[in-house]
Amino acid sequence: MAKKANKIDKDVMDKAKEYIATLRNPNCAEDDVFFQAMEEVLLSITPLYLTDSKYKNNAIVKRLINPDRIIKFKVEWFDDSGHVQVNTGYRVQFNNALGPYKGGLRFHPSVNEGILKFLGFEQILKNALTGLSIGGAKGGSDFDPKGKSDFEVMRFCSAFMKELHKFIGARVDIPAGDIGVGAREIGYLFGEYKKITSSFDGVLTGKPFFFGGSLMRPEATGYGVIYFTEKMLELEKREPLKDKICVVSGAGNVALHAIEKLYHLGAIPVTCTDSTGTVYDARGVDLDLLKDLKFNRRVSLAEYIKEHPESEFIPVSEYPKGGHAVWNIECYAAFPCATQNELTLKDAKALVKNGCECVSEGANMPSSTEAINHFLKKEICFAPAKAANAGGVAVSGFEMSQNAQMRRWSFDEVDARLKETMIEICNRVAYTANEYGVKGNYVDGANIAGFKKVADAMIAEGI
Ligand code: NDP
Repeated sequence: MAKKANKIDKDVMDKAKEYIATLRNPNCAEDDVFFQAMEEVLLSITPLYLTDSKYKNNAIVKRLINPDRIIKFKVEWFDDSGHVQVNTGYRVQFNNALGPYKGGLRFHPSVNEGILKFLGFEQILKNALTGLSIGGAKGGSDFDPKGKSDFEVMRFCSAFMKELHKFIGARVDIPAGDIGVGAREIGYLFGEYKKITSSFDGVLTGKPFFFGGSLMRPEATGYGVIYFTEKMLELEKREPLKDKICVVSGAGNVALHAIEKLYHLGAIPVTCTDSTGTVYDARGVDLDLLKDLKFNRRVSLAEYIKEHPESEFIPVSEYPKGGHAVWNIECYAAFPCATQNELTLKDAKALVKNGCECVSEGANMPSSTEAINHFLKKEICFAPAKAANAGGVAVSGFEMSQNAQMRRWSFDEVDARLKETMIEICNRVAYTANEYGVKGNYVDGANIAGFKKVADAMIAEGI
């Protein structure tokens, strides 16, 4: 059993904070989100780092916070009017101590190196928590699929893969989806990879089912968040989600499947959001309509009230300054499932004031550092993304296993394995928090458990 970290004096912790602050790159605003993710992890592991000399002796922090490599490339493609468009593509291969690089691709105009470094760094520890043999990576492009025709998306994906294929492989690096990359994009990317290499292997996960995808991959992240939350509530002796009002942000893959699972458990999800605004439907949101708006018609949530005039649509422009409408609605549990830093300190205070007892992160790092500290101070049951949303990558791992064995698991089989994995992650995180003297702190529990696994592998593998 691991040795317990001794309680660290406040002045030693302050010195650690000072050291961590020196790791920030003041000349690169893009890196701020990466620093935010790194600072949280390094603060969590400080007591362990200072009491177990092997981590310091092997310079693990310095080695862990620097990606193995960052690949950056130009993507040239023709739009429907015959004009040449140019975007930037990236792959951040962060750490492969535990297995081949693995992590999603994000297509969104906001994508830059800093965002992908933060996502890749988070992915290392998240993947470690799943118990599968996979390392951490992330990639993507500043290309915006929104408003593009299918042919434009296809041409962009082909051009993107013409570069990316040089750096990936079924035992090397296996990308998946993320914001702006769903089954359509993965299909086109896979098609191009296959044409270039003549190889039909599991180089991408999230593929459509009929050519190698796993059943339940689309549902996995959203369902996994809810499985994790139910277990956390049980361990923390709080009431389950049944009959409880829940607020959810986002209206994409993660959010809509979280909403679906909330309904399965008898909860009442009353909101969802997109980049245009918030839908509030006090009777519970209409999931079939949402799926049609977002997965088929790909239109704004403003369309929702046309079919449900009794509900409310609050446009982004009407949000109270510095706060978001969705976090101002009374609820028992909140599920941020859209994007990073969408839940600020002001939002956290509003949630707590309105009686929220549980926050579970479906998106990656959706809560600001100040918001998380407020939740922990107020003893809200808080599930950090790297633990709560690990269900997506877990089922991606299952897809890799199925591809390697040329087998197909049934929906129920994948669902049962997903549930088991999320319960295991929750138990491990809670146990680690307890073991290191921070009972109920799932942030520290997840960071320490993930870090130890990766760091021990790095030490065992040598320099
Ligand atoms: P989707 O592209 O399917 O949906 C994203 C949703 O978030 C959309 O509703 C989108 O609104 C909204 N959104 C995105 N960016 C912004 C922004 N800057 N401001 C406001 N709203 C925004 O993505 P996913 O559901 O796949 O991913 C959501 C989150 O979950 C991300 O943080 C992702 O990294 C994380 N995640 C996803 C996993 C997966 O399996 N897909 C796995 C683990 C984590 P609009 O439609 O208007 O663009």
